[in-house]
Amino acid sequence: MSKDYYKLLGIDKNASKEEIKKAYRKLAHKYHPDKQGGDEQKFKEINEAYQTLSNDQKRQQYDQFGTTFGPGQQGQGFNWEDIFGGQQQNWQEAFNQESDFGGFSDIFSSFFTGGRPRKRKGRDIVVDTEITLEEAYQGTEKEFNLRKMTICDKCKGSGAEPGTKMKKCPTCKGSGQTQQTKRTVFGVFNQVTTCPKCQGKGQIPKKECTKCKGEGRIQDTEKMKIKIPAGVEDNQTIRMTGKGEAPPKGGISGDLYIRIHVKDHKYFTRKGDNLHYSAKIRFSQAVLGDKIAIPTLEKTVKLKIPAGTEAGKIFRVKNKGMPRLNGTGKGDLYVKIRIETPDKLTKKQKDLIEKMKKEGM
Ligand SMILES: [Zn+2]
Ligand SMILES: [Zn+2]
Repeated sequence: MSKDYYKLLGIDKNASKEEIKKAYRKLAHKYHPDKQGGDEQKFKEINEAYQTLSNDQKRQQYDQFGTTFGPGQQGQGFNWEDIFGGQQQNWQEAFNQESDFGGFSDIFSSFFTGGRPRKRKGRDIVVDTEITLEEAYQGTEKEFNLRKMTICDKCKGSGAEPGTKMKKCPTCKGSGQTQQTKRTVFGVFNQVTTCPKCQGKGQIPKKECTKCKGEGRIQDTEKMKIKIPAGVEDNQTIRMTGKGEAPPKGGISGDLYIRIHVKDHKYFTRKGDNLHYSAKIRFSQAVLGDKIAIPTLEKTVKLKIPAGTEAGKIFRVKNKGMPRLNGTGKGDLYVKIRIETPDKLTKKQKDLIEKMKKEGM
């Protein structure tokens, strides 16, 4: 049942990370469900493809086996809930819950549960946010306004005008269930599903809530504040349980996923917890040795260049890399030496170099 992630993103099997990112951003924009002409299913598939192909380990696994392992698609194995609190709910629960998306899980879940009505779950929301490497180093907080369906404050999501009575649901005649014959690849099944009219409650309000017109939810803008922990990596996703959209007529709200994009830095490239920097020194410094200033994400440090340093030599500055998410200190800063070869010389410099040449240098 595995999908072709490359095809989904419209890219070649040899696509570079940059190409994958580009293709994903373009498609995510196009299909974002909050946009006109958006397509939620397609958007989810694109996200899934990107989650896998943008992660070297997962991509390799996918290329080899056509699938990836482990629970969930988001995140990198961190338990974000521990960091952010919120309602405790583990992945498995979240994934087993019936969502509005339908598909295979609906068919299977009704076999296994005998069509027992369960709470509906609202739509998940994915938000992308860009931060600088400095922000990733220190940890930061982002604020944004999120327009989404939220539970109606007047009826508290019930859809009933406050103070009015309930009446028997005419669709399911009070049972909360409806029967449906479904043809699937496994044969024809008589499927018992939750009544769509009353969401399995068997009752509907006599008078619908005037604010939400019986929907139980309204379009609203929520101001969100997201804490981003120090050490976060490009492409990591933070999940906030229950901060997605409210489902119609009561149930569990979906989750909010914040995908972090860390911008490229003008000095440093990042590899895991380590930072890499390329330092240019003069020929005389390489030969005679010197102390040079090296930028870090805090203050500048001095690095001793021993006499006779060759081009390409790498020095390690301990604990000047990125902080680790699990709080066990920092990575290191690696400084690679480049030796500057001047292409313009003064008369005096040229004479000196000529003399050096004669001396066998
Ligand atoms: Zn209402
Ligand atoms: Zn009903």
